[in-house]
Amino acid sequence: MAHQQQPPKADSAGRQTRQPLLAQEVPQSAPTPKRYCRPVPATRFVVQLHDATTLHFDLRIKVGEVLRSWAVPKGPSLDPAVRRLAVPVDDHDLSAGEFEGVHERQLRGSGAVIIWDEGSAEVTRDEPDHVTFTLHGSKLAGGFALTRTGERRWILVKTRDASARPGSDIVAEQPASVRTGRTWQEVAAGQTGPTKNR
Ligand code: MN
Repeated sequence: MAHQQQPPKADSAGRQTRQPLLAQEVPQSAPTPKRYCRPVPATRFVVQLHDATTLHFDLRIKVGEVLRSWAVPKGPSLDPAVRRLAVPVDDHDLSAGEFEGVHERQLRGSGAVIIWDEGSAEVTRDEPDHVTFTLHGSKLAGGFALTRTGERRWILVKTRDASARPGSDIVAEQPASVRTGRTWQEVAAGQTGPTKNR
C-alpha cells in the first residue's frame, strides 16, 4: 500500500513535465501518463456576453471547482475558417457562470452580462498549450480547439466536423441570452438584478 512519493519527472525528451491545462488535479502518487492526454470527463461550459470596457465574450470551462476562462473579443464562430483571439483571464468561481444581470460597480461599459450559451462539454485533448473539446450547447456544438500562440494570446477555432457551419456568423444570428431571450442591451436598460431564480 505504501506508494512512494515521486518528484516531478522530466519526460523522455528532457522537458520538465507540465500540467495539462484542463485536467483536474491528480495525486502526485498517481501513475504519470506518458503523454498529455488525460481527458477531463464530462464537464460543462458557459459563454457569457459582457459589456465592460469593450464588449466581449467570456468562454468558461468548468475544471474542478472553478471556471477556467478566456475573454474572446469577437466571440466564438462555427466557421472553421475563422480564427478568434482568446485572452486567458483568471479562473472564476462557479457562481460567476450563473450570473446574468448588471455588474453595478462596472467602471466602463454598462456592466451588462447575459448567458449567451451553455451546456455540457468534454475535453478531448489536454496539453498546456493546446486543448480540444466538444461542446453541447444551444448555439455551439461539436469540436473546438484552443491553441496558445503567445504570452497571453490563444486562438479559438471550430473543428471541421459535422456541426461546422462555414460562412455562418452565430454571434450575429443569435445574439440573445440562451436562458431569458434578452439581449445585453435589454439587460442593460432593464432589470439590474439577476433574472434567474432557483
Ligand atoms: Mn468579462
